[in-house]
Amino acid sequence: MVVRRITGNNPGVMQSEGKKAAPVACPSCGAVCDDIDGPTHPYLAATRGCWAAFGAIQADEMARFGYPAIHGLVVDAYAASHGGDGTDRRDRQSVCIHLMALCATLERGETSPGRIALLQRLTAQPLQWPAVDRPDGVPALNHTHVAAATDLDEYTHRAGEWASAVWSFWVPAHPRIRNMLQAWESHRLRE
Ligand SMILES: [Zn+2]
Repeated sequence: MVVRRITGNNPGVMQSEGKKAAPVACPSCGAVCDDIDGPTHPYLAATRGCWAAFGAIQADEMARFGYPAIHGLVVDAYAASHGGDGTDRRDRQSVCIHLMALCATLERGETSPGRIALLQRLTAQPLQWPAVDRPDGVPALNHTHVAAATDLDEYTHRAGEWASAVWSFWVPAHPRIRNMLQAWESHRLRE
């Protein structure tokens, strides 16, 4: 029998491989998901159950709504909720660019195509991204907020609320992220 240790909020609980354990809360976003067997993201700090649940939400979004304009904000909200400890360059990049995208969208009214163009420019070359200190706790909302939406209007509205909650969670980092976005745009104007 293979025994493994559950990560998350029940670090001392042991379970047998193949059996479904009690749901656990993701320490990064607070979503309570089944502790399933399966992969987790290579650098986002998500539990396996949380990552699987978000995959299901994205598959459901695609099946029901195609590729809605709000998709990008959903990705930003999830990624910005699941920053790691900053030791992995990809983790630092993810936190920075998705917070910059949230800032551009929520504070400046950036459009979905504009957001995509911003992320493409930010990731076009390997830049040195700083580690942004994550506040304690978890955002007020997580992906479960959008999972139960009955139609695209509700999904879009709830995704906006979720993204705003994640951006608010990062309030100590707002000046830094705004400066990074402004510096990036100034640099672009000089090119
Ligand atoms: Zn999570």
